[in-house]
Amino acid sequence: MSINQTSSVSTEPKKSSIVSVEPRGLIEIDKVSVLFGKGDQVTTAVQETSLVVEPGEFVCILGPSGCGKSTLLNSVAGYAYPTTGSVRVDSEVVTGPGPDRGMVFQQYSLLPWKTTFENIALGPKLTNDLEATKTTEFFLDMVGLTKYRNHYPSELSGGMQQRVGIARALATYPSVLLMDEPFGALDAQTRLVMQESLLDVWSEFGTTVLFVTHDVDESVFLADKIIVMSASPGKVVAEFDNPLPRPRSQSMATRSDYIELKQKCLDVIRSESLRAFELQNS
Ligand code: ADP
Repeated sequence: MSINQTSSVSTEPKKSSIVSVEPRGLIEIDKVSVLFGKGDQVTTAVQETSLVVEPGEFVCILGPSGCGKSTLLNSVAGYAYPTTGSVRVDSEVVTGPGPDRGMVFQQYSLLPWKTTFENIALGPKLTNDLEATKTTEFFLDMVGLTKYRNHYPSELSGGMQQRVGIARALATYPSVLLMDEPFGALDAQTRLVMQESLLDVWSEFGTTVLFVTHDVDESVFLADKIIVMSASPGKVVAEFDNPLPRPRSQSMATRSDYIELKQKCLDVIRSESLRAFELQNS
């Protein structure tokens, strides 16, 4: 049983206490366009896009830089407002940020004067001290950083800092985890380790994940479903179900179904990039 089937108000980390209720984490993006600026200066960051992400699903949004991936993600987070259309999470229209949606950014955004434990504790501390401590310890353990609980961010590697960021986002028991190129600042080797580590955490936690990336391999390795966005103005131009079985390992990159899916994504991205190039030069 996944934690997205738990009561939305529980801060109890022990799975034995899980109460089965409605699955959480349904995202419905309905004909959303996001425009920035006014008059001649208008930028259409997202052009009429619809997408449904089922509870517990891991969906990657893939596309070239500047195509509106972050804006679409931010419309779910409540940081960007749709100019037209709407976003609903578990049937509630998103009107701003909320604890039901945890966010992990590329920059680790940890508080440098707080320890690992204190950074993770920022979310659950708002509820109740005893439960917050138990919850923090649970997530500290889940991301393998119990030994580093008293270290400050400057004493941790980039990968460790991002694990703190993930634990902090999960510690409020969000129904949805929104990740904006979370491993973009890491070196290639650490990135692979972090992808595996994220899948371990996700398989244990089971929350819905919406993950933005421009890395095709990353999306094929992680996702149940890959959404490919066109070059600016961004809209969904392809949606691929990922046939790779779970659990996954990096050695799957040589499988024929992996290579086939990667090629399909690359073909769409290439034709979209060519189209954008032609538009810019016409
Ligand atoms: P991606 O995440 O795919 O790199 P973004 O969503 O960040 O793309 O940006 C999409 C487009 O919207 C870009 O042209 C970007 O310059 C523009 N944009 C994003 N945020 C803002 C903003 N707050 N104000 C004005 N333009 C923005």
